[in-house]
Amino acid sequence: MLRVAILGATGAVGQTFVRLLSGHPLFEIVSLVASERSAGKPYREAAHWIQSEPLDDRIGDLVVEGIDAAPDADLAFSGLDASVAGEVEADWARRGYAVVSNARNYRMDPTVPLLIPEVNADHIALIDRQDWRGADGQPSGGFIVTNPNCSTVGLVMALKPLHDAFGVEAAHVVTMQALSGAGYPGVASLDALGNVVPYIGGEEDKLTTETRKLLGTLGSTGEVVEAEAVVSAQCNRVPVMDGHMEAVSVRLAGSPSAADVADALRSWESPLAGRDLPTAPATPLLVTDDPTAPQPRTHVHLGGGMTVTVGRIQDCQVLGVKFVVLSHNTVRGAAGGAILNAELLHAEGRLGRRADAA
Ligand code: NAP
Repeated sequence: MLRVAILGATGAVGQTFVRLLSGHPLFEIVSLVASERSAGKPYREAAHWIQSEPLDDRIGDLVVEGIDAAPDADLAFSGLDASVAGEVEADWARRGYAVVSNARNYRMDPTVPLLIPEVNADHIALIDRQDWRGADGQPSGGFIVTNPNCSTVGLVMALKPLHDAFGVEAAHVVTMQALSGAGYPGVASLDALGNVVPYIGGEEDKLTTETRKLLGTLGSTGEVVEAEAVVSAQCNRVPVMDGHMEAVSVRLAGSPSAADVADALRSWESPLAGRDLPTAPATPLLVTDDPTAPQPRTHVHLGGGMTVTVGRIQDCQVLGVKFVVLSHNTVRGAAGGAILNAELLHAEGRLGRRADAA
């Protein structure tokens, strides 16, 4: 087993890490880290547990540590608030940890993989461009890998097969994003109930920039050459618990029909098929003909929250083809996606080197 710490363990994403890692065959939680408000308290007191499954007793008894903790661990999953993630994740990488993060701080760093294993596993090679050094000035062996914003992951899972088959020239996306995407306690109930808020700070830019990096290729000198797709986004917070829904219109090279697009999505084969990654769902991309689907209530938990569902594929008078995509924001879009990233890193021999470097 590889020993892991969770940074930001008390938050919405941190708790999802705790739930998903319970009984995980590769990773064992040995350290839970949060702010000074939580440090020193047993996890069951520090975290306001909002998961649908009961908290494991062993984890509930662990005493939360501050950001200066130095656990005997190889890997740190980060669900830290972005206001602190930049400095804290860099510090942990300098101290030799592999940091697998959900925070936005390093996603667009040219040396940091922004990773969806089914989409751009080869971007792992960017790790070799990082140079984290310990207090002694020697390479620490640590690195940072990130996963995309919770709304970008669903969009890119749907666009990747289309980019490969035709080439994405332009996409316009309108999101309907769940409340859990705002963390805990998140949006005030009086703002959220029976309402739609057409503003999520920074989100529209992330959909544009992250999509281009994720669909990019590695150039001759190992850097990411971003895809040229033009992406425009409008983001809305809606009163749904979990699951980001997105209405997408795309312009594809060669102007394929909706039927061609449905065929390309259905015939796409995950590059992870046949690889033994415990969190990889049997069906990463589900295409449905049900005219009322996908819906958060009925589809968000498919594949343990790791399946992305596409429906309502139709011809579009504006950009060519349109569809709706749904993904689970705290699982596929956060903790589950990060765990899958770590499983891929493990399979590629990138984890467990801390002891060698020390
Ligand atoms: P959250 O519920 O607000 O949790 C934030 C976590 O950060 C808590 O554990 C908190 O600890 C910790 N923290 C805050 N200030 C700290 C400090 N000064 N020092 C150390 N720890 C500190 O937020 P979240 O929704 O889980 O999101 C966590 C990260 O994941 C964010 O960067 C977010 O953008 C990203 N993300 C979230 C989602 C989603 O769907 N929610 C999806 C993708 C990415 P205390 O409890 O001790 O304050």
